[in-house]
Amino acid sequence: MRLSQFPVVTSKETPADAEIVSHQLMLRAGMIRRLAAGLYTWTPLGLKTLRKVEAIVREEMNRAGAVELLMPSVHPAELWQESGRWDVMGAEMLRLTDRHERDYCYGPTHEEVITSLVRQDVKSYKQLPVNYYQIQTKFRDEIRPRFGVMRAREFLMKDAYSFNMDEASLAETYAGMRAAYSRIFERVGVEFRIVQADSGNIGGKQSEEFHVLAGSGEDLLAVSDSGDYAANVEAAVCQPLRSARGEASQAMSTLATPDQRSIEAVASLLDVAAAQCLKTMIVKNDAGELFALCLQGDHNLNLLKAEKILGGCTLASDDEIRAATGCAPGSLGPVGLKLPVIADADAATLADFVCGANRDGEHLQGVNWGRDLAEPRVEDLREVCPGDTAPDGGKLAFVRGIEVGHIFQLGRKYTEAMKATVLDANGKDAVPYMGCYGIGVSRVVAAAIEQRHDDAGIVWPQAIAPFEVLLNPINPKKSEKLEQEIAQIYDALLSAGFDVLWDDRGLRPGQMFGDAELIGIPHRVVLSERGLEAGEIEYKARAGGDAEKLPWSVEALIER
Ligand code: ATP
Ligand code: MG
Ligand code: MG
Ligand code: MG
Repeated sequence: MRLSQFPVVTSKETPADAEIVSHQLMLRAGMIRRLAAGLYTWTPLGLKTLRKVEAIVREEMNRAGAVELLMPSVHPAELWQESGRWDVMGAEMLRLTDRHERDYCYGPTHEEVITSLVRQDVKSYKQLPVNYYQIQTKFRDEIRPRFGVMRAREFLMKDAYSFNMDEASLAETYAGMRAAYSRIFERVGVEFRIVQADSGNIGGKQSEEFHVLAGSGEDLLAVSDSGDYAANVEAAVCQPLRSARGEASQAMSTLATPDQRSIEAVASLLDVAAAQCLKTMIVKNDAGELFALCLQGDHNLNLLKAEKILGGCTLASDDEIRAATGCAPGSLGPVGLKLPVIADADAATLADFVCGANRDGEHLQGVNWGRDLAEPRVEDLREVCPGDTAPDGGKLAFVRGIEVGHIFQLGRKYTEAMKATVLDANGKDAVPYMGCYGIGVSRVVAAAIEQRHDDAGIVWPQAIAPFEVLLNPINPKKSEKLEQEIAQIYDALLSAGFDVLWDDRGLRPGQMFGDAELIGIPHRVVLSERGLEAGEIEYKARAGGDAEKLPWSVEALIER
């Protein structure tokens, strides 16, 4: 591609509203442009990288035996009512009404849609197992869209759904997906870690996440130094409590009176949860103790140290809640209780908000857990949780990660609710087991930059760089011969299958090299009249090392 024909708009200024480096660099390199909160246009340059990630994902999914299809992004409400999730998804699901006053949503995920397809098309055990996937746009009305495409509202996901006759078959598909995901992130060229995960409101039991390790990651991971245990703190906290207490989706009344021993067993980790309280509401039990309920997911946890984060808050009545928030106290939440209304939830500090349960006098106003607690630093957590012991006996440490992939063994939740049965070998109705497997394709681009950058800009791993080779000519307009020679090299590299960008804009070298570093193409070739006379090309790798002189020939370049 000739840069004169490929619009790239770079900038030296660091955008004021971009907090993390990937967001800053994607804007500065002109890869994305903001349309509105959490909505981004991928420019031609950004799209090149996005498509490369997508291609790797597609190749590895195909290789693992998954089959591609494409489902609509707008879904009829009836489907989500059948699964029971229409009422539990809350405000993150964008709801629409058509001209006939029928309800729809913009799909945040596709378990319901795929189950309806399988219900129509799969009649016999002989058609299973099957693993469908798509690479498609999702919309989630995130409470705090931020960090550019890292936490967007509209984003690109690869989502796969397997249907299996029994748990053993599901476990096999799950293992295949786990291996495929590892290959995908290795090929993309990022350092990642697989951790135990909480399955949130999707449901199911076994679930793991793939995290790109980065200081800016929104998730906290508890990692054992023995190497055998790693978990998202969400899971490290919620799962022990959940298994101690049995079923997750219990009514609030039981959760509000947890058994003391199970709390103590995870007490130190609960401090971590307190620090993660972005998604938490506070309620009080009959004995007047305070507990935190997770806003997201079907899990809840109690909070021993609730006072610590509740300094100065007061109980509020329904009327006060209404006055403070303009809303009724709560919509129906995941565990069948009314969840709180959070006023001012978009405020960066989550200061002084109001939350409430659907019981009289249990609402709180003036809750303020402050910036430090809402955004805990790893060092703070070490202090709170000194010398914690992991389940495998190792010592726990906390690191930050970016969730780029998530795999689940769902079980029969959707197939049962939506009556997607097939005939088994004995001609009897059987309910298949499901797995689901997601990758945040657009998030992977930002996550890679978080790991791979320096002061001058992005340092792309070769596999997902927008271009592989950059030709930088010095003063080409002065010499027709130089321009012709460069055109030859350009054509020859293209013919050899390289993705080449030729900066033929005729900019001054300083500007041209500044852009080159910012955009981060892995291999840079400098071509000058003096070099041509001396028969030399200058080669430099973006990842570092000194510039090298190579003979002026395409063969020498290709070999390098
Ligand atoms: P998160 O915890 O970051 O909100 P999630 O657990 O809600 O993510 P999943 O339902 O597991 O997300 O979706 C599969 C993948 O989609 C995630 O692993 C992540 O990579 C990506 N993803 C989820 N939400 C977003 C978003 N708002 N913007 C970009 N990518 C996202
Ligand atoms: Mg989410
Ligand atoms: Mg998550
Ligand atoms: Mg997830």
